[in-house]
Amino acid sequence: MMSIANSTQSQLLRLSQGQLNLLQRCPRQFQHTYLEQLHAPQNPENEEKLLQGSRFHLLMQQREMGLKIGKFLEIDDDNDKDENKLQLQSWMKAFAKAAPDILTPTVDGETFRESEHYRTLQVQNYLLTAIYDLLIADKQQAVIVDWKTYPKPENKRKLQYNWQTRLYMYILAATSDYPPENISMTYWFVQSENKPHIIKFNYNSLQHEQTEKKLHQHLKKLTKWLQAYQQGEQFAQVSEGSKICQKCQYAYRCQRVFIASEQKSSQDLLGVNTSLINLANIQEVTMED
Ligand code: SF4
Repeated sequence: MMSIANSTQSQLLRLSQGQLNLLQRCPRQFQHTYLEQLHAPQNPENEEKLLQGSRFHLLMQQREMGLKIGKFLEIDDDNDKDENKLQLQSWMKAFAKAAPDILTPTVDGETFRESEHYRTLQVQNYLLTAIYDLLIADKQQAVIVDWKTYPKPENKRKLQYNWQTRLYMYILAATSDYPPENISMTYWFVQSENKPHIIKFNYNSLQHEQTEKKLHQHLKKLTKWLQAYQQGEQFAQVSEGSKICQKCQYAYRCQRVFIASEQKSSQDLLGVNTSLINLANIQEVTMED
């Protein structure tokens, strides 16, 4: 749970890209999700997808550390219906084919590679955090690599403006000697049409300035909202009739219940709609409206 005690005076409040995305989407959602932890549990299907995504990330991390992962992927003869392992095997195979340079890099002693590379940057009273699935850096350039275990999104622009893309490159530029022009971020969508797909974003000084400006604006607003919240006020809501309220698990709480929702079971109307998934906590980039 996010602690806000004295956050506006002395303590640094840790903020991730997922929290920034949510804050931008709807401040009230941010309040309910992170300050009050009111979110509903994941539905089992979604939970399994998240687990499988975590397993893939872990395998890639272990591989990068030089650990043998073959044993883990072996299918037990007595249990040859292990679909999760089969799926992981097929993702790994397809990825090794599509990006051999990432899986079997040339060892030249001049390239830095680290999986789960962690960086922080203080801005105002906040500690912005980034965890890169893989960071590859040499004398000239630095590449942030991120694995996604769902299909490639149609809308590249949305991904470009997602806070994961913006914050990750911003933090790297602000905490290293690399000029923004020498930084890029690559997303690998491992299961797009059974063939991994890549989306790459290059960074530049103008984007860096724009992100900095936006960040400062959001953080200033957040500080005000947090101060007001401590005085008993609620965070701002999106305007009435916003499309995002239709999919929001807090619609009833916010009195934004729509006709379709009203026809649902009375259980939904108790304040926690368990049929809806709270994607806000998922660290991966989601392409919600
Ligand atoms: S119902 Fe609408 S206003 Fe309320 S938290 Fe959800 S998105 Fe925000």
